[in-house]
Amino acid sequence: MRIAAACLLVAGAALAADWNAAGKAWWKHVEYLASDKLEGRNVGSQGYEQAAAYVAAQFESAGLKPGVGATYFQPVQFTETTLNSLGVALVRGANNFEIPVPGEVHPGFSPDSADQMEAPLVFAGYGLVIPEAQHDDLKDLPVKGAVVVYLTGGPDKIDGNLRSHYSSTEERWKAFREAGAVGMIAIADPRSMEIPWARQSLAWGMPRMSLADPALTSTRGLKFSAAWDPDKANDLLAGSGHGFEEILDAAGGQRDLPHFKLNATIRTKLSTSNKTVQSKNIVGWRPGDEATLTHEYVVVSAHLDHLGVGKPVNGDGIYNGAMDDASGIASLIEIARALQKGKAASKRSILFLGVTGEEKGELGSAYFAAHQTVGGRIIADINMDMFLPLFPLKWLEVQGLNESTLGDDVRAVAQAAGVEVQADKEPNRNRFIRSDQYSFIKRGVPALAFKFGYVPGGTEEKIFKSWYTNRYHGVTDDVKQPVDLAGAAQFNEILKTLALRVANAEQAPSWKSSSFFRRFAKQAE
Ligand SMILES: [Zn+2]
Repeated sequence: MRIAAACLLVAGAALAADWNAAGKAWWKHVEYLASDKLEGRNVGSQGYEQAAAYVAAQFESAGLKPGVGATYFQPVQFTETTLNSLGVALVRGANNFEIPVPGEVHPGFSPDSADQMEAPLVFAGYGLVIPEAQHDDLKDLPVKGAVVVYLTGGPDKIDGNLRSHYSSTEERWKAFREAGAVGMIAIADPRSMEIPWARQSLAWGMPRMSLADPALTSTRGLKFSAAWDPDKANDLLAGSGHGFEEILDAAGGQRDLPHFKLNATIRTKLSTSNKTVQSKNIVGWRPGDEATLTHEYVVVSAHLDHLGVGKPVNGDGIYNGAMDDASGIASLIEIARALQKGKAASKRSILFLGVTGEEKGELGSAYFAAHQTVGGRIIADINMDMFLPLFPLKWLEVQGLNESTLGDDVRAVAQAAGVEVQADKEPNRNRFIRSDQYSFIKRGVPALAFKFGYVPGGTEEKIFKSWYTNRYHGVTDDVKQPVDLAGAAQFNEILKTLALRVANAEQAPSWKSSSFFRRFAKQAE
């Protein structure tokens, strides 16, 4: 490891100028895509359309073939739900407590939201139903007709991937719905909250979107959903005989969480309107040159959409999304260009995918995975979402590292570049299932995602964590932030080499026999 690091220093010094130049070329795309002019690239906005036209033009000039018939655009239809008015109250006997919105609670809204509702509340621990781990938080609780309240996260004794999969909102709701629940309320564990409550409140009231294709909606039957401010969780728990401190203590000490009926019903009033919004994925590809393998595709993906425009903070209301995820789209373009420049040949085809609707719940990628446009078979997804080149690239954190043979591929490629790979350091944040790669994983396709890595306790960790607290999903994720351009260029080179290696391998990648995610490949067969 030391030797590899020393090699990197030597190689890095010799090539420093080149990395910087390559980094600047990459940054130019970020500067355009994250400019105020594109207004945060919200799904359906003018800014998104301009960004999509830019990406298609870049794909074309990088020699990619159009991936949707004669064009680069796959139309994706959304339903946009706008909130008109809203009231939330807790009812205890004859008392009615109005709850401040968004001060204390952030209700969700979708075409499935009920106009009016009153329902009992139950606290169901982590709200997890995981048959493989014999874990059932709904057991013996009166869930039928109720709204289920739960603490985010899960017990450490359950394997990280198993827990991650079942703790997605979609899977939690599936289990609650099957048990007859009508809604759900999440209380974040304050120790793992990525965005402070006050900052979450700024973006909360913006319109929500879901896929218009009813086969692909995950909110069916969800009459009410909300996030509750953990600082005010005791308002919800009052009179139940349990307090939030007790619950957090149990969670922190890895003890079982209590399960109980709350001493209140929740009453909600919601007025929304729905309209159809058109958006698009951008698809380009480089054909493979071996007749028997050219119909197999290695997908390299990133998301083009971001949050759009919200309430101004210090006069700035534009969520530019420079790291999230103009950076990944810029890498898509630069990787395509590098392949063109190097006249790189591959046996399999490589498909470049810029998706819409990631911020709405990985919707554009879900649509593409369900309606892929090129025929043939997708064998891998290499996804780039906020890989965070905030410091030099010494370590590369890989989500999904130990799940499939793609992990072995990235190990080999990174090692040759003098970069050390790391497994996910914070599996509790569920990053492997929180971006577009998961749309492919659920259909059986092995995938990877990435972050610039660090060693815990070092300065890089401080930079990384403070980025989440201060910039993640904030208006300051813009082009004025400090970024390591050379590191970004080195990352692009590693990803390019990885895509080529997978596209040229004898065997298509496969899940490790021990991987939790292998089940999806079996289901897809
Ligand atoms: Zn995001």
